[in-house]
Amino acid sequence: MPEITIVGAGATGCTLALLLARYGIASTVIERRSSSLNHPAAHVINARSQEIWRRASPKLAAQIAGLAPPSEEVSIIRWSTDLRGTPLGEIDLLSDSEQLDRIQGHSPFLISHIGQHLLMPILWDALEQEPLIDFRRGWSFQDVIVDGPRVTVHASGPQVSDTEIVSRYVIGADGANSRVRDALGIQMRGPVLANMGSVFFHAELFGDTSRPLLTWIYSPSFCGVLIAHANNDYVLMSPYLSKRQDIAANSRSYWARVLPQVIGEGVAFNIHSTGTWTMTSQTAENFAVDNVILAGVMQRTGSRTPAGSVSTVACKTHTTLPGSWLVSWRDAPPRRCWQPTRVSGARSWSDLQPRVWPTTSASTRRCRALV
Ligand SMILES: Cc1cc2nc3c(=O)[nH]c(=O)nc-3n(C[C@H](O)[C@H](O)[C@H](O)COP(=O)(O)OP(=O)(O)OC[C@H]3O[C@@H](n4cnc5c(N)ncnc54)[C@H](O)[C@@H]3O)c2cc1C
Repeated sequence: MPEITIVGAGATGCTLALLLARYGIASTVIERRSSSLNHPAAHVINARSQEIWRRASPKLAAQIAGLAPPSEEVSIIRWSTDLRGTPLGEIDLLSDSEQLDRIQGHSPFLISHIGQHLLMPILWDALEQEPLIDFRRGWSFQDVIVDGPRVTVHASGPQVSDTEIVSRYVIGADGANSRVRDALGIQMRGPVLANMGSVFFHAELFGDTSRPLLTWIYSPSFCGVLIAHANNDYVLMSPYLSKRQDIAANSRSYWARVLPQVIGEGVAFNIHSTGTWTMTSQTAENFAVDNVILAGVMQRTGSRTPAGSVSTVACKTHTTLPGSWLVSWRDAPPRRCWQPTRVSGARSWSDLQPRVWPTTSASTRRCRALV
């Protein structure tokens, strides 16, 4: 019987499978998508995430770090009423050289600006190339049945409507709307914070001046944030209240209409994709039932830090599985000191709360010294 089935090949599922392989443990990864994410979600990746990928494979970590533009190209955060007008203000994240030296001393990696749509194909390729990983794209989780030490996943694949995959452990890494979590009857607790609509597009903005990483736009006609991605690609996001609003119900036509008002009439643009997402501050009431374990964003979603703070994202879910860490890119206050060791015996989020999430391995060591 194989050791582990992982449901979901997002950042969490991929990283877990690669780390397990590093320790010689085989896994089957089922993923309902056939091709990887192309609408950007995460755009800021913590140094700790990169340290963990280096543990899985130095080559992989170097490949991912290579996606990040030089930090001086993405150091400005700006506030404005209009993209073309005088900004209300801006901060340069690199302006305090002492602080920068201190941060760079923590890790060989810096918190980096890497779009998730660029990252995921690299992680998927790494899965494909790893002989200990059976990566099944286009396979959807349907149900899970625990029978003593055996856990059976029911899944449907490209050619089959119901297949059984039997293993010792099942890890649900299937995202915020996890079906594994639903199958276990685990509830999420906590409020919805905001609904956001977004458009991913290409345009030549800002002329020869450096592109701000984030531009917060506040005007009577539009409120939102513009995020600069590689190759003059951008994501523009705006909150909404009802899914009946155009931004959610007819997102393409909404953005085709609104985008020129924000970036300037007459500025050429090409929309790659549009989407919606819900920001919540929710925690699963439990994260394991027998040998079925939840990992990543579906056991905790949402943000505890102010939007726009780019230094807040950390890898943070540690697991009881031998020799492996489950990774989620959720945010954690960077200056707090957490006890980051592997947590054994913890069954619910409240067991974990006081003791997780270093943002770099250096903070791990400092925390150990303090505990
Ligand atoms: C707009 C936006 C901006 C963000 N910005 C940042 C940021 O700057 N920094 C940051 O750290 N995080 C950011 N995040 C959050 C980050 O994207 C998530 O935390 C991260 O993707 C979670 O990874 P995951 O692997 O846990 O879940 P997911 O990425 O959701 O992966 C889950 C996977 O499971 C698959 N799946 C789902 N259901 C099934 C099923 N039934 N069967 C098989 N497979 C299934 C999905 O297709 C998916 O591939 C952002 C998110 C959004 C939406």
